[in-house]
Amino acid sequence: MISQIKRFKKLPLYMTNHWLFLEKNNLIRKIELIFVLFLSTLTVILEALGLSILIPLLSLIEHSGDIEKFKSSSVLCRYVADIFFYFGIPINLANISLTAFTLILFRQIVNYFNNIENERLKWKVHKRLSVETINRIMSAKLKYVQDIKPGHFTNTSTNEAGDTAAILRCYGALWMTLMVFIAYALILLITSLKITFMIMIFLFTLMILLSGIIRLTKKYSSINLEYRRQFFNFLNERFTAWKFIVLTNSLDNEINHAENINTNIYNNQVKLLRLQGLLGLLFLPLASLFLLVTLNLFVTVLHIDLTVITTFGLAFVRLMPVTLNLQSNINKLVAYFPSYLYVEKIFNDAGSNSVNRKEGIILSPLKKEIEYRNVSFNYEGRKDFALKDINFCIKSGSFVSIIGHSGAGKSTLIDLLPRMIEPNEGSIYYDGIDIKKCSIESLRSNIAYVTQEPFLFNSTIIDNLRYTKSEATEDEIWNALKLAHAYDFVKSFPKGLQTDLGTLGKKISGGQRQRIVLARTFLSDASIIILDEPTSALDNESDLKIQSAIDTLKNKIGATIIIIAHRFSTINKSDIIINLDQGQIVKNRNKDTAV
Ligand code: ADP
Ligand code: MG
Repeated sequence: MISQIKRFKKLPLYMTNHWLFLEKNNLIRKIELIFVLFLSTLTVILEALGLSILIPLLSLIEHSGDIEKFKSSSVLCRYVADIFFYFGIPINLANISLTAFTLILFRQIVNYFNNIENERLKWKVHKRLSVETINRIMSAKLKYVQDIKPGHFTNTSTNEAGDTAAILRCYGALWMTLMVFIAYALILLITSLKITFMIMIFLFTLMILLSGIIRLTKKYSSINLEYRRQFFNFLNERFTAWKFIVLTNSLDNEINHAENINTNIYNNQVKLLRLQGLLGLLFLPLASLFLLVTLNLFVTVLHIDLTVITTFGLAFVRLMPVTLNLQSNINKLVAYFPSYLYVEKIFNDAGSNSVNRKEGIILSPLKKEIEYRNVSFNYEGRKDFALKDINFCIKSGSFVSIIGHSGAGKSTLIDLLPRMIEPNEGSIYYDGIDIKKCSIESLRSNIAYVTQEPFLFNSTIIDNLRYTKSEATEDEIWNALKLAHAYDFVKSFPKGLQTDLGTLGKKISGGQRQRIVLARTFLSDASIIILDEPTSALDNESDLKIQSAIDTLKNKIGATIIIIAHRFSTINKSDIIINLDQGQIVKNRNKDTAV
């Protein structure tokens, strides 16, 4: 990450890249930024006008209302006199005061909207960025998604997306600072060229002096990002592993681990705070020193008159916090940049691994057959092929068992069908159509797939059952539960369908979980049902129940059932047995259907 930062040495380049990234990905529209910059500019113009009117006010008091003396006292006073004359307003203390008040009031009103709109834009972009990050990562290919740690995923869509959006707030602040500079430089230029020149030199020197702090901020911010990723990952994983942790008496270790990561975050954060503090500490003494020396110089050497000195004082007092603000915004900008680089990388990587789920031929329910022709598959980074030259054919409505040792390639074989992975060689045909040419969404809507580690959401039974078919009626749900031999135990729960299943469905037994998952599968209208070792976690009795559920299902809806099995009770009933060994088909026992 640090080396990545070094690639962009210059802040303007950083900002341009950040802006182009947001614009290219439709996270912001130009008009939205122009609108907030316009409000910032208007605020500054009103403020500068408000200040400009204060000087003539002082001048009028100084000259006891004598208009001629007032007009000749300074360029600014002459302008004000001309403008008042143009509008036919008499020049007096009351009118000038009223003008000053109106300008100040307007400035505050515009500034109110300016602040709100700036902050709103930040939150708008945060929202879009967060949703798009989730979308990008979750629409990517399996090989990309399985390398993302859950904590990194959470952290990117919350913290890092937020910081990337917060950079926009700095844009607004920097723009405003620039405008204030220009406005005050103009006021000062009108008042005195020498003073303007001196102030500019001072500010420039100050920026250079403080640039070391910016470099350090950059460094600590990227370290912070790394710790945040670590911590989020730790939280996600350890909470899921809670039972394992307490059973292995590892809680103390884990708490120590949490403490260590948090201590690192704390120490780094304190370093960043110290840097920000140092900025404030150095800035005010340096600025005051400059102010005092210059004032002495004005009075003793240059003999500059009082109005000019007053203007200088006012401009300086206002410019001081603005410069400090500029410094701290540059610092923030630099602190947020590692987050942006990280989000950009995630966007690019996920984007280049993206899957188009919609495009392609729309499939209807399976009529004839599924055929694997010369299919080989190799997991990236693995030496051996997980599947080698696989050929078989499954007729629609048949019952297929896939058997073989653990690691033989059974799950890989069926992952290819819904295109979770794509073959390196060969093709798979669905009623004669190469599935590569099919819309992934339509392919998957024809397949109900219970994975080896079936998943239940932390919600009620009914919510879980309706996940794939939201319009399912209660009757349909009870029927599916009956089919899956889950009716009795769900009925016996005091809350019935409203029973809460807990994280990963851990509030019910393993066998009950399997049957709820089966019921969910039975609710779907898919013509192909894939079950990856559905009875592996079950005792004999539950196994038999599931067997009978599968039988009923087969007879009732005529679906094609592919089951990865290790129990002979299942195997005996199948039409085809595919026996895998080290990624190859050993022997096809063919009963009714030709393979
Ligand atoms: P089975 O389901 O028959 O137990 P799998 O199909 O899960 O076997 O695995 C077949 C082989 O592929 C094994 O050697 C396994 O280690 C490897 N494998 C499985 N999934 C991955 C993966 N995501 N990345 C790399 N290798 C994998
Ligand atoms: Mg498996």
